[in-house]
Amino acid sequence: MNTPPNSPNQYTALVGATIYTSPTEEPISDSVVLIQNEKIVSVGHRAQMQFPETAHVLDCFDLTITAGLWNSHVHFFERKWADVANIPAPELSRQLQDMLTKYGFTSVFDTGSVWENTRRLRGRIDSGEIPGPKIRSTGEGLVPPCALPSDQVLGMMGVMKLPAPEIADAPQAAAAARKLLDAGVDAIKIFASAPRGAPLPENVFQAAADEAHRANKPVFVHPNNASDVLAAVRGGVDIIAHTTPHSGPWDETLLSAMREKRVALTPTLTLWKYYMRHDRLSAQEKVTNTEIGQLRAWIATGGTVLFGTDLGAVEYDPSEEYALMSEAGMTFRQILASLTTAPAERFGDAHKLGRIAAGFQADLAIFQQDPAINLRALSSAKYTLRAGKIIYRAAG
Ligand SMILES: [Zn+2]
Repeated sequence: MNTPPNSPNQYTALVGATIYTSPTEEPISDSVVLIQNEKIVSVGHRAQMQFPETAHVLDCFDLTITAGLWNSHVHFFERKWADVANIPAPELSRQLQDMLTKYGFTSVFDTGSVWENTRRLRGRIDSGEIPGPKIRSTGEGLVPPCALPSDQVLGMMGVMKLPAPEIADAPQAAAAARKLLDAGVDAIKIFASAPRGAPLPENVFQAAADEAHRANKPVFVHPNNASDVLAAVRGGVDIIAHTTPHSGPWDETLLSAMREKRVALTPTLTLWKYYMRHDRLSAQEKVTNTEIGQLRAWIATGGTVLFGTDLGAVEYDPSEEYALMSEAGMTFRQILASLTTAPAERFGDAHKLGRIAAGFQADLAIFQQDPAINLRALSSAKYTLRAGKIIYRAAG
């Protein structure tokens, strides 16, 4: 599966593809992307490009290349990741392909899992033992008392037991956030409310956000309704991890607060649709229309969208999420930004990830068709490269 170990000055030339260097540039057809070790050296039209004779050539005629994709809302909490240190490398590698790399994902943000376990998973990838994406994680996340489903329900959902710290007030939130940050998480995740019991007040978000921001890390919120979103935004969180279709359309007060605070949104449209699958068609349609309306209203304000699906809680194929984002009025270019430049900027990697340019890390997704013509093309990668290495190659 991997290319041979990189020797110094090893070149790879991706030849013949149409490339989207960024969501705003015009595509380059019949191109060459020249990679040296883990970085992109140059990009351009084939007729104008030279590359060393010793370069390994990957035939990319009729294929389309974008920067490697990000899913900014995933969970490594399914039972298949439990005791990750003892999963044989070939099986672990296949699991990562099934979930992520076969769809072109090279970076993910895990927003709730057992931190010690996810850290080990990341370690096996980063050491080079297992091909896989770059993983960031919030670890367990902070929850209000009695917010998590029982162990029995988690078991039925296929999810590991999650020892998330319960917080009821600001001092507890600050202490729990600090403990996770000290353990090395990349962000803090807060669940805004429990099914029964009062929602967390603004000052609880504020206390956790102050701790995270002091460490230069972002804060995600899982809201259950529009008032959760408003309290979280006013308390200083950075990423709204879901739309909230069960509480009706987002009003102007909420949208302008979100815009003013420059938060980002992971829409997770497929998730709500999936949870409604046992309900009456009219109820399903109402939820789908409401979530699409919320995303449309957010886009209209110029707000930032980070592609995110709550992966692990939904099926792995992202096709439906792309289709629903398109129904909300997002163009291919806007969807591509949500998958590349927007998360790279939001998470501090805009200098090396999210675009195809000289000096950038060679994280690339290579598709069978041009997704600008057919959005579904984004769901079938032919190759996925991270740091110049092929981490997924389609069969045949
Ligand atoms: Zn989630």
